[in-house]
Amino acid sequence: MYTPTTVNKQCYFCSQNTGYIDYKDTNTLKRFFSLQSKIYKPQKTGICASHQRRLALAIKRARYMALVPYTHLHTK
Ligand SMILES: [Zn+2]
Repeated sequence: MYTPTTVNKQCYFCSQNTGYIDYKDTNTLKRFFSLQSKIYKPQKTGICASHQRRLALAIKRARYMALVPYTHLHTK
């Protein structure tokens, strides 16, 4: 799994020119939460504030639809 070590200078979604973050796109969402399914801080991932809010909403929707786990215990 992707774990960012250095802060990117530009927001990932701004560089992709994406307005809407799709909750069904789990491969992209998995880059922004840990193995324990905790959402990373924007300071760690370099995401801007508006995209961080939309990303958190997309991850929570994906959790509700059981596309990504709530905790690492749900993957077993
Ligand atoms: Zn952005």
